[in-house]
Amino acid sequence: MTDIQAVMTRVTRTEMVGEHLVRVSVAGAELWNLPWGPAGPGPRADAYFKVLIPAPGCEHVAVDTSDMSHWRQEFLSRPESERGWIRTYTLRDARVLTGGFRDPTEHVPEMDIDVVVHEDEDHGGLGPGAKWGSELSPGDTVQLMVPSASGTWWAGWDEQRALNNQVVVAGDETALPAAAAIVDCVDRSVSLRAGTADKSGAPQSLHVAVEVPTEGDATLSAGPAVLSRGVERDGEIHLTLESGTELTWTWLTRGTTSERNERLESWLRQELEGHVVTARHAASSCEEGEEESGDFVWATADAAGQGPYWFLAAESSAVKSLRRMCVSHGVRKTDISFMGYWKRGRATE
Ligand SMILES: Cc1cc2nc3c(=O)[nH]c(=O)nc-3n(C[C@H](O)[C@H](O)[C@H](O)COP(=O)(O)OP(=O)(O)OC[C@H]3O[C@@H](n4cnc5c(N)ncnc54)[C@H](O)[C@@H]3O)c2cc1C
Repeated sequence: MTDIQAVMTRVTRTEMVGEHLVRVSVAGAELWNLPWGPAGPGPRADAYFKVLIPAPGCEHVAVDTSDMSHWRQEFLSRPESERGWIRTYTLRDARVLTGGFRDPTEHVPEMDIDVVVHEDEDHGGLGPGAKWGSELSPGDTVQLMVPSASGTWWAGWDEQRALNNQVVVAGDETALPAAAAIVDCVDRSVSLRAGTADKSGAPQSLHVAVEVPTEGDATLSAGPAVLSRGVERDGEIHLTLESGTELTWTWLTRGTTSERNERLESWLRQELEGHVVTARHAASSCEEGEEESGDFVWATADAAGQGPYWFLAAESSAVKSLRRMCVSHGVRKTDISFMGYWKRGRATE
């Protein structure tokens, strides 16, 4: 028994929700087999899955579903020209769609995937994921690797850690879908655990900043649904969520004048200065050698921790630098989740 399964879906619609962000909506009866729980299809904070992108000329990526414990090894053993690509994307939102593809009375889950249409900053051209997202049309098939119905959502977000706490979320455009889904779930009190509506999951405050390429990416449709209810003050959007959480949402645009991560770093510095860090122990524990090395930059906060919860997701070196800044301001490493969503100059599964 493995906790992963391959499901086949079809594109229902695509829409540019930002200058560099395309929303791909996919639906299909096989999506019922996800761990929605009694709450049914809807957003799940920071839940992610894998998309299987076929090689040119192939309709699907061949997956031997009879033994899912070996699918990845089997996939990687094939020649690159045949196998296609695996890429990771976030479940931005979901719902039940009435009127399936053939039967107007059918009810099937529909999920939104927000794909950043990025250029390779070093070599030019679109990565396979960006190209895939920007070329899809309604009716195209989309193959996903998702958790099985009896499993749990894959997510870096720890709602227990966020409970009654001060939470800071900082990310780049690839983490915008995760940040927006987190806000939607806190607002609607939707839990990642068994999909139950769980009022206890509410943070006291949620300060979110997302750095996006241009003003055209800081749109109401790309952000969480609640932003339209917010009040803008000094470049920040403020509102009290249905859960009672005080939300502050900040769009940071790089435009042509800022380097990647520059605006996020200066926002985080201000945020850190506004926080009372109770245990000023950590400056000495931020030695370089301890940081993650290699491709995988991913560590989650200690589930039993008590201090404010810092959730950082962006390009790998950017996120390491954000985490270093937190630690040098006295934040305990165990209060920080930091996740490299992609790595500059390298393809990332
Ligand atoms: C848990 C998780 C959730 C994620 N959710 C989302 C999501 O919802 N939406 C989303 O768009 N991405 C998301 N990502 C990031 C996405 O998986 C990567 O950006 C991935 O590299 C894109 O694949 P690609 O084929 O387009 O580029 P790749 O083939 O991986 O890379 C090609 C080149 O493009 C560069 N590159 C990759 N991504 C970017 C970028 N965004 N901007 C600039 N250069 C880039 C690489 O460094 C490389 O040089 C997520 C990643 C993780 C780990």
